[in-house]
Amino acid sequence: MARTSTGIKKTMLNSVFVGRVPLAIAVIAASVLPIWLLDFRPSDASRIEGPIERFAAIEHAAPVEQAVPTAPPEVTGPIPVNRQINRQINRKIRISRGDTLMGLMIDAGVERIEAHTAIEALRMHFDPRRLRPEHEIIVSFEKEKEAAGAETFTGFTVRPDRAVEYAVRRTGDGNFSAGKSVKEVERTLVRAEGVIRSSLYLSAVEAGVPAGVLQELVRIYSWDVDFQRSIQPDDRFDVMYERFFTKSGTHVRDGEIIYANLVLQGDENPLYRHTLADKSVDYFDDKGKSARKALMRTPVNGARLSSGYGVRRHPILGFNKMHRGVDFAAPAGTPIYAAGDGTIVHRGRNGAYGNYIRIRHNSEYSTAYAHLSRFNRRARSGQRVKQGQIIGYVGSTGRSTGPHLHYEILRRGRQTNPMRVKMPSGRNLKGAELERFRTERARIEDAFAGLTITRKAVSAD
Ligand SMILES: [Zn+2]
Repeated sequence: MARTSTGIKKTMLNSVFVGRVPLAIAVIAASVLPIWLLDFRPSDASRIEGPIERFAAIEHAAPVEQAVPTAPPEVTGPIPVNRQINRQINRKIRISRGDTLMGLMIDAGVERIEAHTAIEALRMHFDPRRLRPEHEIIVSFEKEKEAAGAETFTGFTVRPDRAVEYAVRRTGDGNFSAGKSVKEVERTLVRAEGVIRSSLYLSAVEAGVPAGVLQELVRIYSWDVDFQRSIQPDDRFDVMYERFFTKSGTHVRDGEIIYANLVLQGDENPLYRHTLADKSVDYFDDKGKSARKALMRTPVNGARLSSGYGVRRHPILGFNKMHRGVDFAAPAGTPIYAAGDGTIVHRGRNGAYGNYIRIRHNSEYSTAYAHLSRFNRRARSGQRVKQGQIIGYVGSTGRSTGPHLHYEILRRGRQTNPMRVKMPSGRNLKGAELERFRTERARIEDAFAGLTITRKAVSAD
């Protein structure tokens, strides 16, 4: 198996700012969140990377489940006369959405009967329908040196990630056998921090925070922080998240955020990940109060507050008009979340609102979402929705000058200012739960403090 272990950590330290940032931005811009939030200026974000404390060293250490037959060793030394040398050929297969493993194998040059037998062997360990475009498949053949063109299919390997491998190999009698091998994965913690110059989003990208972690970071703070309005120059953030490596140092994947702290105008807003006795997981502040609020103030990720609540000159009508909601500018198609648990009481066209959804949360609060490009299939009228569930997508339907979400919080049927309304808060830990949380908090703080800081300044231009 190819090992790409050397230099992983070094690469992170050296090239996160130089080489990876434009790439990271491109990748994220293409896939996750809008980039066009205000002006782009590099911040002096810093990247901090271990020697990482082994917090809970090994996630799973399943040894080889079944011996995987290996390819014949390479022959070295003088070539015996009159003996043909077989050459191993490995073809890496690209998987696209809608491909079947059978189709891919046939395209790679495997005969249908053999492909079928080999896939049946795999099926004992791995369901081929679980294949995803990001998985890796390598199909192997053996070629006799002298015989032109004659290739024998010897097996194939499926790698769902860099730690797990399913190998199917031809056995002597023309059958195939399959095995699974799992590399030991070590959980480490990574710390990143940055000064927020233009937006939390951009600063975190610059600090090398991976897209998935960043999305989660925005989400866990979205209950109470309006990112565009609350963030001032020199506000900063810290984040500590999980990263999994194989023993040889290959990065397998990133995990959960364990700790984060947004420092806004000098106020610390730490959040700690904590698993409760009932096994549910949530983020709590330093006093054991859940970050989760009854309603989200910003039910769309990465958006820019483009128009606040109150009297304004209407951009289309041209006269002063009371704006009874807030507008978040975001690219068309950006997902919109249910701001809280509730029931959809209206979904459809609604005059100047365009495509519109209203959710009733309780006897007191409802929320409304307007100008959607389309609705999520699962968000139908009368349906129960969970906080954070995607109900629709940003658009510009109805009376609207460009893609944005018009968001209203209604209290007893009347619009109120979403940025001002006092949110009923989430749960407060008490008694034994609070004691358990305090122990966990101390453990997290120790782990965070134990990570060595290596600051790396980013030039301003
Ligand atoms: Zn509006």
